[in-house]
Amino acid sequence: VFQLSVPLNFLGSVYRELRQSLLDMETLFNLQKVNVAVKEKEGAKPLLLTGGEIRFENVTFGYTPARPILKNLTLTIPAGKKVAIVGPSGCGKSTILRLLFRFYDVQEGRILIDGQDIRDVSLESLRKAIGVVPQDTPLFNNTIEHNIRYGNMEASPEQVRAAAERARLSETIAHFPEGYQTMVGERGMMISGMRTAQVYEEKKNVVDDRTGGEKQRLAISRLILKDPPLLFFDEATSALDTHTETTLLQNINSILKEKKRTSVFVAHRLRTIYDSDLIIVLSGGQVAESGTHENLIDKGGVYSELWSAQEMKFGDNAEDVALAEDV
Ligand code: ATP
Repeated sequence: VFQLSVPLNFLGSVYRELRQSLLDMETLFNLQKVNVAVKEKEGAKPLLLTGGEIRFENVTFGYTPARPILKNLTLTIPAGKKVAIVGPSGCGKSTILRLLFRFYDVQEGRILIDGQDIRDVSLESLRKAIGVVPQDTPLFNNTIEHNIRYGNMEASPEQVRAAAERARLSETIAHFPEGYQTMVGERGMMISGMRTAQVYEEKKNVVDDRTGGEKQRLAISRLILKDPPLLFFDEATSALDTHTETTLLQNINSILKEKKRTSVFVAHRLRTIYDSDLIIVLSGGQVAESGTHENLIDKGGVYSELWSAQEMKFGDNAEDVALAEDV
């Protein structure tokens, strides 16, 4: 028995590694536009994480050199802090994330994680350190349980359930007759939008969340299970209704604080990020201004204008504003 179990265990770990890299591939395809030209340096060492500080130093980058997106950009995302990156559409917010993953290399300057140039560390260790909740999460044709477990193939059923709980997904799962064994993905049940609403209707057990967003909460469950040192939320809660979003953000905040994780939120709606430790406003490929919400409001610049404009919009919906106050 002993002789047999060794190679099997070994195969198990190779299998898990393969699964893990598939998960990373999934993220990769999500962020898309993969550049296979990025090469690992010979003898590259694994990334050594101390606190999780991210620093862009004089970074210039464009998908085509003729059209730079980031221009001599310098910014620091402090270790263990919640940082928001905001700015007009197309200003390069997602590009920052793609560069950090090293889907592309910078044309000038450098990107450091805990003082190490990301071009000097192994790609595997770099990508393992970063978890993303993207704008859209593909699901695998498998059970909900399996889809969540993809974040960490070794997680126990209890851990899977705890993650779903924290991601505000467990209530939804409880509405499906087969619970965690419900099939999702293309050939299973679509876990967002119409179909979910129909399921609720059939069960005559309508809860407040009928606007979808289950996929995003599933992605967040995965991330909670994966528990990477650096977390990125790319418009991660935009499909949720206000109430669900508020509660989910509270849960995410408590996890981040508890674990002292470095997190970056890319957001359009300032209401979801105004409590960040640091807000970085990008414009024209550079940092236009940065600070806390209070600093930036006092300053009366771009952020403060954006805030006023959005607050006026939220003002149409008193409930939105009330909930925003609670976050
Ligand atoms: P949004 O808020 O709309 O998501 P963003 O700030 O995240 O936008 P990016 O996705 O980083 O913006 O894109 C920045 C610019 O780079 C945009 O003008 C976009 O059209 C361009 N861009 C993005 N990917 C590529 C690519 N693979 N090739 C060429 N241009 C690209």
